[in-house]
Amino acid sequence: MNIRLSKLVTKTKKDAPRDEAAKNAQLLIRAGFIHKDSAGVYAMLPLGLAVLNKIIAIIRDEMDQLGSQELLMTSLQRRELWEKTDRWSDEQVDVWFKSKLKNDTEVGLAWSHEEQMTEMMRNFVSSYRDLPCSIYQFQNKLRNETRAKSGIMRTREFIMKDLYSFARSDAEHDVFYKDMSDAYVRIFDRLGIGEWTYMTWASGGAFAEFSHEFQTITDAGEDIIYIHKGKKIAINEEVMTDEVMATVGVKREELEQVKAAEVGNIFNLGTTKSVPLELNFTDEDGKVKPVVMGSYGIGPARVMGVIVERYADEKGLVWPANIAPADVHLVRLGDDPAVVKAADKLFEDLKSAGKDVLYDDRDESVGRKFADADLIGVPVRLTVSKRTLEQESVELKHRNQADEKMMKISDVITVLK
Ligand code: ATP
Ligand code: MG
Repeated sequence: MNIRLSKLVTKTKKDAPRDEAAKNAQLLIRAGFIHKDSAGVYAMLPLGLAVLNKIIAIIRDEMDQLGSQELLMTSLQRRELWEKTDRWSDEQVDVWFKSKLKNDTEVGLAWSHEEQMTEMMRNFVSSYRDLPCSIYQFQNKLRNETRAKSGIMRTREFIMKDLYSFARSDAEHDVFYKDMSDAYVRIFDRLGIGEWTYMTWASGGAFAEFSHEFQTITDAGEDIIYIHKGKKIAINEEVMTDEVMATVGVKREELEQVKAAEVGNIFNLGTTKSVPLELNFTDEDGKVKPVVMGSYGIGPARVMGVIVERYADEKGLVWPANIAPADVHLVRLGDDPAVVKAADKLFEDLKSAGKDVLYDDRDESVGRKFADADLIGVPVRLTVSKRTLEQESVELKHRNQADEKMMKISDVITVLK
């Protein structure tokens, strides 16, 4: 985003709220990225939304490259639909929020969309010619989570990217599943957490034998996984048995136990949704068959929380360049007319060069300005002051490096490009 900090509605805070345990939320609240409404309920403020939108854009780009098509389902869910798959009752699904229409008809607030997507596709899938295909959305999920102590990594209302695939056979499904797992690897690389993110064998629920979770190693995670660094594979403790280790081809002594957070998962649904919801197609051989399905989720805000946990230091947030709220944090020191003029001009020139700039044009002390720049965590800080202008220069500092250096103003645009 491009903005003068004197105009930004949010302000940084010196201290974190007392009731906030998670490091990610403490820093994001102090820096003005999120607002805590209640436990597990956070609003995204302008800076936070800028980051979230960049994460979403990367995920969207990879989904579009797979030929998947974006749509938007609804939060209100019909009771009868979920009864067909036996997922309406609170015994089966313990995170439901439920409500009633004026005429007393019960509705649920979507915690997932498999049922609704499957039923909706009955309108469009009837022949083998309609398959394979996939659809996805970025949509709100509402979940009555028991624990909400991990900041934005586990909230009661969050945007999820959920994608659903529809295939004619297990073999056709497997091809898409592999393409999707490759896309997930690219996504987490682009988001700056590829190095610590493992495709992890996990339980497949009631349907398939296994599913795959994408787990990022972090002490803030709620899961325990066993990783093999060399082979870059992992096993969730919930399925950690001799049999699974043999299937995956690893030995117990080669594995390291770590804490991790699930940032995404991919799931083979088989025909467990298409059979009860009657999503069928007529195959080339004239036979009517149930569609083979998969589902693939990522939580962009959980990813954002994990990135904060992995990158932040004692001074504040540190954003990887791909998802930073801006490219440059421009600091103007003092209000000498020549300094104001030079800094204003640099702000305009950087914007014209396609850079997103947070411009600190406030009347604040040097200490406060630098502390805020560190807290907000934009990758590059440029400072303009009377002293730097004497050398026709600005001071350049990278957020993740200790020292700063002088650079000629005339070189700034070329160097940053
Ligand atoms: P968990 O075991 O952590 O509760 P889950 O198995 O319920 O996760 P899914 O229903 O598969 O998760 O959701 C897909 C993705 O959505 C997860 O991989 C995660 O990134 C994100 N996600 C799930 N629950 C939450 C939540 N409460 N807050 C934020 N993101 C979430
Ligand atoms: Mg859950």
